Amino acid sequence: MTLDGLYAAMPVPLQNLACTWAGYRRARTRFTPHFHRRLREWQESGRSSRERLHGIQQERLFALASRARRHVPHYAKLALPEPRCEADPQRGIEAMLAAFPVLEKADYRVDPESFIAADIPPRRLLKGKTSGTTGTALPLWYTPEALAEEYAAVWRLRTSVGIGLFDPHFSFGGQLLVPMAQARPPYWRTNAWGRQTLFSLYHMTRANLPHYIDALHAIPAAYVQGYPSSLHLLGRAMLDAGRPLPAGKLRAIFTSSESLLAFQRETIEHAFAAPIFDRYGTSEFAVSMTACREGLLHVDMEFGIVEVEIEEENEHFVRGPLLVTGFANDATPFIRYRIGDVGTRAKRPCPCGRPGDVFLDVDGRIEDYVVTPDGRWIGRLDHIFKEQLDVAEAQIVQETPEAIEVRIVPRPSFDARAEAGLIKEIRSRVGDQIRIELVRLQEIPREPNGKFRAVKSAVGRQMGEEGNNR
Ligand SMILES: [Zn+2]
Repeated sequence: MTLDGLYAAMPVPLQNLACTWAGYRRARTRFTPHFHRRLREWQESGRSSRERLHGIQQERLFALASRARRHVPHYAKLALPEPRCEADPQRGIEAMLAAFPVLEKADYRVDPESFIAADIPPRRLLKGKTSGTTGTALPLWYTPEALAEEYAAVWRLRTSVGIGLFDPHFSFGGQLLVPMAQARPPYWRTNAWGRQTLFSLYHMTRANLPHYIDALHAIPAAYVQGYPSSLHLLGRAMLDAGRPLPAGKLRAIFTSSESLLAFQRETIEHAFAAPIFDRYGTSEFAVSMTACREGLLHVDMEFGIVEVEIEEENEHFVRGPLLVTGFANDATPFIRYRIGDVGTRAKRPCPCGRPGDVFLDVDGRIEDYVVTPDGRWIGRLDHIFKEQLDVAEAQIVQETPEAIEVRIVPRPSFDARAEAGLIKEIRSRVGDQIRIELVRLQEIPREPNGKFRAVKSAVGRQMGEEGNNR
C-alpha cells in the first residue's frame, strides 16, 4: 500500500481538507435514508422480544431464500423455501435453513460470480473482498443497502450507549493518512466534517507514542474506535507514562476487525477510562454481533442468523464453528456459510435484558488454532498472556506441526523467572510434545492491512482448508 503521490506531497492543512472531503463522501454513502430507516426499526425491535425477533428473521429469511432461488445461479437448483410458520417462527426458520446445504469457502471459490443476484443492476454493485487471511481473499459484491444495514447495526450499539452520529471521536483504523517518511508530529489528520481525528497506525513507534498521548489528552472527543491491538499498544504506553485519560473524557470505546484479546481489554479500559463495546462482523455482510455492558456479544438478529455446529457442550454453553446467513447482502447472498470462526453461545439470556442469541465470545479463526503433534486443536492461546505483566506484546507462530515460535516484546522486568513462568504457562496448554522457541523482539510486525494477529498457525490453516475435519 502506498499513499497517492499527490496527497503525500500536500502540506498537512491540505491533507486535512482531503480527509474532510473523504469523510463527507463516506458519510453520504453510509448515512442514507435506508440507514436511518433501519436504525429506527432496529432500535425498536432490539427492545422487543425473542419471539418478535424470530418473526423478523423468518420474514427476511423467506425473502432471501425466495430471491436466491429465483435470481442467484448458485442457488437455482435448490427447492423452493418451506412456507412460513406463523405459529412458531423458530421452527419455520429451522425448516427453511435445512433446505440449504452448508456453504464452504471452497464452494464459493470455485465460481464467485455464480453468487451474484441477477435482479440487481450491475451499476448498483459495489465490489468487496471476503474476509480471511491475506492471499486467500475472494471477490464479493454488495449494494449500498448492505452497507447501510451494517452501519445500522453499528449505530444501534453506539446510540444505545449515548453516542450520537456527529459526536467528535478518535479513530485508529488501517487507512494510510500520514506519509511514511514524516518524522515529526502530527501523526494524525482531521476530518472536520465528521468531527473525527484519524491516527496513523504506521507511525506508532516508541519514540512517537508520547505525541499520540499528547493529542489524545488535548483534542476533544466523546469516543474512540479502532483495532484492539492499536488501542492496546497506546494504552500500555499511557499507563507506563502515568498518563491515562481522565475519567469522563470518553464515554465509550468501540473495537472491531480483530479478536479483542483478554489481556488487551483491561489495559485499554484502564488507559482510556471508558468501557469497551466490541463488535464482530465480517466483510461478507453475513453476520453482526454487538457487545453490551455485560461484555457479551449479542447477535444482531435482524441482520442475520448464526448457527453453531456444536463440538462442545455443557450446561452453560455450546461451542463450535459458526454457520452464518446474512440478510443484508442482497447482491451475493451467503446462506449457511461456514465463515471460519468458532464461537461460544450462552444457553441463558443475557442479564442486560436484550433479547436474542448471545455469545460469550467468538474466539477466532481456524488459523488461530495451534495444532499439537498429537493432533489436538488449541485455541484461545492469547489468554496465556493475560497474566504476563512482564510482556508488553506477544504472538504465537506455528509453521510446522513440531514447534511453535513464541514472539514477545519483553518489558524491562522480564527476567529468567518470568521466562520460566511463561514457558510453564504455555506448556500447561500445549503439552510437552511440541517444541517452544522463544524469540524476543522490539515490536511485533502487523499484517499488511495493519492488523495484529495473536496466533498465526500455518498448520491450523492448512488442516482447516483440507476439509474442516476437526
Ligand atoms: Zn447483554
